Amino acid sequence: MKLVVCIPFYLGKFVCERERERQMEKEGGRRWPLVVLTTSPFHGHMTPTLQLATALHAKGFSIAIAHSKLNPPDPSNHPDFIFLPLSDNLSAIDVSSSFTGFIQDLNTNCRPSFREHLIRLTSEQNRGDKSMVVIYDHLMFFAGAVAMDLNLVAILFRSCSAAYYRACLARQQLHQQGKFLEQDFVMQDMVPNHHPLRYKDLPYSKSPIEDWKQRVAIFSQEPHPSAIICNTVKFLEHEVLSQTHQHHQVPFFAVGPLHKIAPSPPTNFLEEDTSCITWLDKQAPKSVIYVSFGSLATLDSKVLVEMAWGLAKSNQSFLWAVRPGSVCGFEWIEFLLEAFRDEIRGRGLIVKWAPQKEVLAHLAVGGFWSHCGWNSTLESISEGVPLICQPFIVDQMANARYVSYIWKIGLELEVLERGEMESMIRRLMVDEEGEEMRLKVAKMKEIIKDSVQNGGSSHDSLEGLVGFILSS
Ligand code: UDP
Repeated sequence: MKLVVCIPFYLGKFVCERERERQMEKEGGRRWPLVVLTTSPFHGHMTPTLQLATALHAKGFSIAIAHSKLNPPDPSNHPDFIFLPLSDNLSAIDVSSSFTGFIQDLNTNCRPSFREHLIRLTSEQNRGDKSMVVIYDHLMFFAGAVAMDLNLVAILFRSCSAAYYRACLARQQLHQQGKFLEQDFVMQDMVPNHHPLRYKDLPYSKSPIEDWKQRVAIFSQEPHPSAIICNTVKFLEHEVLSQTHQHHQVPFFAVGPLHKIAPSPPTNFLEEDTSCITWLDKQAPKSVIYVSFGSLATLDSKVLVEMAWGLAKSNQSFLWAVRPGSVCGFEWIEFLLEAFRDEIRGRGLIVKWAPQKEVLAHLAVGGFWSHCGWNSTLESISEGVPLICQPFIVDQMANARYVSYIWKIGLELEVLERGEMESMIRRLMVDEEGEEMRLKVAKMKEIIKDSVQNGGSSHDSLEGLVGFILSS
């Protein structure tokens, strides 16, 4: 007769981890710390955090993920991780009224349960002060403060570009000088001493000044981290990275693009429509423009109609991911006219959520019309796809500026009208201008490939991070 011993799911994980730890102790004569990563409920943050966790796990660390109950990650995708739900008391991501207000609530509400988890983990696993390290998302800065309070090493993880960091510093400096981005600034002008940023590229440049003041107040609670991890690549942002390094004077680890370092299961909150890959298989090489504005951006139905007709009139094939609820006042795209559908039949496909990384890697895709969220930007460059940039909020303007002005691998869309859109699509997909960008970004793709290989900058940075955690 077989004796079946049922170990509860979570205890099972602890047993496995203990086993692994014992093994490591035997091998290396020392204990490897448990790495606790906190992730915010935003899709674009959770994905790289889980990728970083996967990379560190592959190096030998045990991993715990602290997350809000709102938009939790799926534990079944990461059976080796411990998951620590935080009581957030939030019912939905509502950044339409106030992004900063949402971040404040997130930080205030999650703090007590995070502290409890850390105290419990320390005592349960009988770990000393130095055997646990916290890596916290920059929007979840409460976790850094709690860690320091408990004498643990706290490392900041910035999932956005270094360029955005620079844009924040520029905005902060203007604020300190009493200069607020209101009528007295011409948005197209360059910000003095912050080449290549224009006033319009700074965060909150289109929001009421009160929003920025609230952000400054909230982020003044940010602790000073022991080190900073960035999801970027040295060759892309070398100059900005060294400036931010100088500013912070703590070790900096540029370990991106994380999706190439540690591909991990998707963290989708929507189901991927994989039928678009079959559709792409039937299209000619580099003939399709992929359009998507990520997981958060919302737009006016008038703009969507302009986009629809811009795409239709460009005569190019397109794959368009329109997230349900992303068009203000509508469930999806039910308001698009039959005439548009007739016009695009056979050469346009609209889905709700695409397997984006697979789409960008597909031979048929020759361009990406994007909001320039940092994940999308990195994913596009990593696959050698040039962009049309239509940024909306926060970091997207700075990313778009680097794409179009510094790296010259994309066009900036400034006028949201169908004629302009049609012409941009053709410039990117048909004209020589677009071909030059495609060649440039193809070279960047190769450099990225090298940077994540043995001896490459991101590979070495990750090794450096491992060493830093072990010596902390
Ligand atoms: N994404 C996807 N399918 C879609 C749209 C987006 O898988 O139809 C993924 C995309 O690959 C990226 C993330 O969603 O990893 C969006 O992150 P990004 O930082 O670009 O923008 P955010 O959603 O944070 O605004």
